[in-house]
Amino acid sequence: MKISHIEHIGIAVNSLEEAIPYYEKVLGLKCYAVEEVADQKVKTAFFKVGQTKIELLESTDPEGPIGKFIEKKGVGVHHLAFAVENVNEALKDVEASGVQLIDKTGRKGAEGLNIGFLHPKSTLGVLTELCSE
Ligand code: ZN
Repeated sequence: MKISHIEHIGIAVNSLEEAIPYYEKVLGLKCYAVEEVADQKVKTAFFKVGQTKIELLESTDPEGPIGKFIEKKGVGVHHLAFAVENVNEALKDVEASGVQLIDKTGRKGAEGLNIGFLHPKSTLGVLTELCSE
């Protein structure tokens, strides 16, 4: 597997409405997209920082993955996403290395990317996402 760069950093927030002004007014970044990903039960907001994006995640359902994460750990950094050429092949490679996967094959994520998650139990506590165009 070859990682080209950090595609984005996912950050769990209580509310996009409350979080976006911090990123725009204090950090001077520009929110260029807000998108709901219904099957993940989140609303996302994106900012570009060079080649890397910040993905803010607001839960739309307390039983969804972000709702549960915030309940357990509070708001803050949720996951790291690496850009790879082909998610399905990269998932196979890491699985062959003994890493436990959340997604056996890629699925559709925000921005039309093909994404797959590795289990934080196998990644030293960092929820890790692989994504490709
Ligand atoms: Zn992500």
